[in-house]
Amino acid sequence: MLQVPALAELPFLRHGFSTRACGNLATRYGPPAEVAAARRRFASLVGIHPANVAHFALTHSSRVGLVSEADTVAIDDTPYRISIRGLLADASSQDLHFTTVQGISNQQGIDSLVTATPNVGLFMIVGDSAPVMLVAPAGRGVAMVHVGLVGTVNHVIDHTVESLCRVAECDPSELIAAIGPTVGPCCYALGQSVTWGQVVSSAFYAAYGPTGPGIVVRKNRYFFDLPAAIKALLARNGLTPTNIHALNICTACADSPFFSHSAGVAGRFGALLALV
Ligand SMILES: [Zn+2]
Repeated sequence: MLQVPALAELPFLRHGFSTRACGNLATRYGPPAEVAAARRRFASLVGIHPANVAHFALTHSSRVGLVSEADTVAIDDTPYRISIRGLLADASSQDLHFTTVQGISNQQGIDSLVTATPNVGLFMIVGDSAPVMLVAPAGRGVAMVHVGLVGTVNHVIDHTVESLCRVAECDPSELIAAIGPTVGPCCYALGQSVTWGQVVSSAFYAAYGPTGPGIVVRKNRYFFDLPAAIKALLARNGLTPTNIHALNICTACADSPFFSHSAGVAGRFGALLALV
């Protein structure tokens, strides 16, 4: 397990990112019993009780869910299961509003979770996209958001910052952010999974242009610097640049300690975050 030092020193917080040594955490890539054991091992390493965890979907939506203990399941429960009763931000609206719902499922897409409840774990299984953690001062709230290239253009970061600040009653400049392991500009060549045309037509490109953060040109090939794009978007949402931290470990490099989708490694790693 690896941690971001700036978060590890916070007494009211537990967090971590599982390395390959912890095992594969996705049932698509291994026997359920082994995956369940690896997930419980990860929860133990982080120091979170495995019974109260809210899972992520990774659907590239911009919905933000508010999680309480009633929304949690065990960490080794059905993959991707989630049932959120409160929605802080909906993809269909730029105006944030809290909505009480009967239970929105992952099929509908929730890529960001916020909680102010201690001992509720926010859990995400990932291969190359970035798990991004946000922490409000004095442990008044935390958020975890899934950000891939699509997430950098669909306002999921904007929605998450605003939602967390509303729940924790704080200013964005007070938040601490940590960007977990993700595919780096060394390995994220555009034109494979994402075409250059998609980037040019995106809101991200419209906002920043060809020389903005995120767009890297090497030897006439285009690469995407996802961590740089996320840092820029967090700062644009009012975070203090010195409060934005990153592990800066590429998941897809040959020597990566993490599972990677694009590197063809059969497995997924986890990100786990909770107030205590
Ligand atoms: Zn790399």
